Amino acid sequence: MKKDTLLTHVGRDPGRYDGMVNTPVFRTSTVIHPNLASYETRPAEGEKVVRYGRYGTPTTFALEEAVAQMEGGYRAVAVPSGLAAITAALCAFVKTGDHLLVADSVYAPTRNFCERQLKANGVEVEYYDPLIGAGVAALMKPNTKAVFCEAPGSLTFEMQDIPAIAQVAHARGAVVLADTTWGTPYFFRAFERGVDVSIHAATKYISGHSDVMLGIVVTNERCWMPVRKTVTDYGYVASPDDCYLGLRGFRTIGVRMNHQMASALRVARWLEARGEVKRVIYPALESDPGHAIWKRDFEGAASLFACVLEPVADRALAAFVDALELFGIGSSWGGFESLVTVVHADACRTATRWNPGGPTLRLHIGLEDADDVIADLDRGFEALASAATR
Ligand SMILES: *Cc1c(COP(=O)(O)O)cnc(C)c1O
Repeated sequence: MKKDTLLTHVGRDPGRYDGMVNTPVFRTSTVIHPNLASYETRPAEGEKVVRYGRYGTPTTFALEEAVAQMEGGYRAVAVPSGLAAITAALCAFVKTGDHLLVADSVYAPTRNFCERQLKANGVEVEYYDPLIGAGVAALMKPNTKAVFCEAPGSLTFEMQDIPAIAQVAHARGAVVLADTTWGTPYFFRAFERGVDVSIHAATKYISGHSDVMLGIVVTNERCWMPVRKTVTDYGYVASPDDCYLGLRGFRTIGVRMNHQMASALRVARWLEARGEVKRVIYPALESDPGHAIWKRDFEGAASLFACVLEPVADRALAAFVDALELFGIGSSWGGFESLVTVVHADACRTATRWNPGGPTLRLHIGLEDADDVIADLDRGFEALASAATR
């Protein structure tokens, strides 16, 4: 089956639910048994049978199955946020005394967790240049248990060579964890690229409508039980209602992402040609240093990228952002609407420096008509120019 066909059919079983197209929302804490023998032989955690609400209901299982199958993983577990997916995955593989390598361009809350929790618990955390590729070999130690990747990096969009990193990590017996929120199960076949544990903020494109907080960890067979048990031990449970919304959103991820990618490319090319723009950082652009790796490893791109402006006064930058009418000013991305933030990436790194030479915007292109989005940015540049000359 081609992936759009699979996306339409995975994770549902109408025959089981009176012909209903979608798996309904099942809510429960308790599951009661007809007799003691049934209770005492109830299924173990991780089996796709309702055991107790915390281990999920058929609604949860439907989402988990759909995402795992789309991505080509073994199993998946839904958790209450993308960050919970990251922290559960990390805790499944690193313990006191272990060494963990983390990309310097990692999502800032991931770094906070490493700094405040993992280090406090005796994990040796080391950040590496995201462009290191096979050079990561020089950083591997006998106690290196995991390498954490994110491609492209949060805010700065450096494209990592995950297959090269995975080859080194696997040769040394380390597990490769990757935050694949940008690539999504639709555009990035994480397991074919050497990832062992693929982590998604399903809050973003998987849900797709800016109304759900949800995370999903997808693993290969070898890494499944450690992840499932860690999620169990921390007591993480994603709400069945949110899982329903997550799967409802996931059904249309293909049309949304293809549309948003096409718009994002148009907007990015338009921005690249503007005199006010120093550089657009978007691996899907031919001009991007990560383009070749992106083309090799990804089947498409998220509609999220960075745009570095030529240096301007703070008030001119604020005038640009404030003049935008279609772009919401706010965190998150992957929903149906366009968003803008100003990023201060250098504050979030330690192994490398980030000095793009001008203020940096992060743009998320939504489902609006690309012509209208471009007209809105044009309005922003007019406001920038008049504020700069004032
Ligand atoms: C948003 C985001 C997360 C965290 O997801 P939440 O659901 O907000 O906790 C993790 N990684 C990346 C790359 C993100 O953009």
